[in-house]
Amino acid sequence: MPFRIQDNRSGLATGFEGLEILLVEDSRTYTAALKQRLEGGFGMRVTACSTLEQVQSTLEDMPRRFALSLIDLNLPGAPAGEALDLILGQSIPAIVFTATFSDLRRKQILTKHVADYVLKDGTDAIDNLVKASARILSNRGAHVLVVDDSMTMREMLSEQLMRQLYRVTQVDSGDAALETLESNNEFDLAVINYLMPEMNGLVLVEEIRRRREYDRMRIIGLSSLEDRSLTARFLRAGANDFLHQPVVIDEFRWRVAQNIQTTNQVRQLRELAARDYLTGLFNRRHFFETGPRRVAQAQKQGQPQSMAVIDIDHFKRLNDTYGHEIGDVVLKAVANQLRELCGKDHLLARLGGEEFGILISGRSFAEARYFCEVVRSAVELMPITTDDGVLKVTISIGLADVAARETFDNYLNAADQFLYMAKHAGRNRVFSEADIVAKVAGAA
Ligand code: GH3
Ligand code: MG
Ligand code: MG
Repeated sequence: MPFRIQDNRSGLATGFEGLEILLVEDSRTYTAALKQRLEGGFGMRVTACSTLEQVQSTLEDMPRRFALSLIDLNLPGAPAGEALDLILGQSIPAIVFTATFSDLRRKQILTKHVADYVLKDGTDAIDNLVKASARILSNRGAHVLVVDDSMTMREMLSEQLMRQLYRVTQVDSGDAALETLESNNEFDLAVINYLMPEMNGLVLVEEIRRRREYDRMRIIGLSSLEDRSLTARFLRAGANDFLHQPVVIDEFRWRVAQNIQTTNQVRQLRELAARDYLTGLFNRRHFFETGPRRVAQAQKQGQPQSMAVIDIDHFKRLNDTYGHEIGDVVLKAVANQLRELCGKDHLLARLGGEEFGILISGRSFAEARYFCEVVRSAVELMPITTDDGVLKVTISIGLADVAARETFDNYLNAADQFLYMAKHAGRNRVFSEADIVAKVAGAA
């Protein structure tokens, strides 16, 4: 999930809608302000308690239903953090805030299993608390791999990470790590110890970097050795960060958080770069970047594939008659229809102008041709509401088989030629090799 720490004032979904938050705070102004920010800004649901008794009865009434709790440590009648203990006892993640934080207090809090702490002073306090909440909650989507042969270390690190709501997988060797990464593409971060029997951490980092690019998965190296050169050696091998053990818990948290944040930002940028601005479909670049890989994979598995190129008929005329803006509305409507029909099964992209490509997967050629016919007819029947009234358009489709081993360009060129024939034959139709054969047979 994207890392969002700003409030959502754009009206877009935040991914936090409906999450239940337990707020423990005796100041009514503070409660009101926080409630407003979390409910109004993120669509969360906040249950507020102002006394220890209320916390008790709330937890009895609805145990374990809270995604996160925010707790003011200085609650009247509960001077030693009794509310916090109750909440942690139910394994509810907690962010604590308090006006006073001595070093001792900070240490005490960190040894308890709190997710984060925020100082309640100055005008930024509410802001900081909201940011901390959003940061912790957005961790839920991130997956961390912990690699250490010592079970005690593994457990300690995992415990720290899970407290931050990360998903954690532990393995005890380099080989196990590589095996895990082979079968799961979802990891955002690996935390790797240096000294391990068989494969040491440095070798593992190099092995991972042969398989995972620097910006797709982050790596933090760890070692309890005094050797100061290890930092440089880990970074050189492809790690993004390095920490000496024993780790300072707060430092470990922030390094992890920053590395995860970077992967999220890179992912968002990559996602943006793959999309067409007008229609939101994948763009030509993404189609050419991922298409060949999909083809190779399908061929390896013996799965049939076909390439369809779609072009809106007489689109220039439509633009000339109704103007470019209405043309854009029509383009978006066609794109949405295609998106709906393709779902996640087939790779769909806007190739440019009023032209779209679909790499149809897992369908025999006859089935793919039928699918194109469904697409063509759906567009033909679709009323498009515009400021100039309801419009209708048709599309022509060229369909090529992706059976022979050729370049990705060639599949597209073949489909393009069939598209040209479809246009020539009168538009609003699907054309493929099968249609030429049928035509020749009909003429004979
Ligand atoms: P055919 O049936 O042979 O495909 O005719 P056509 O008019 O659709 O073909 P042509 O390629 O001549 O025209 C495509 C038009 O698409 C020309 C261009 O102005 C328009 N176009 C390309 N991109 C966009 C866009 O993003 N928005 C709008 N509104 N029009 C676009
Ligand atoms: Mg056209
Ligand atoms: Mg065109």
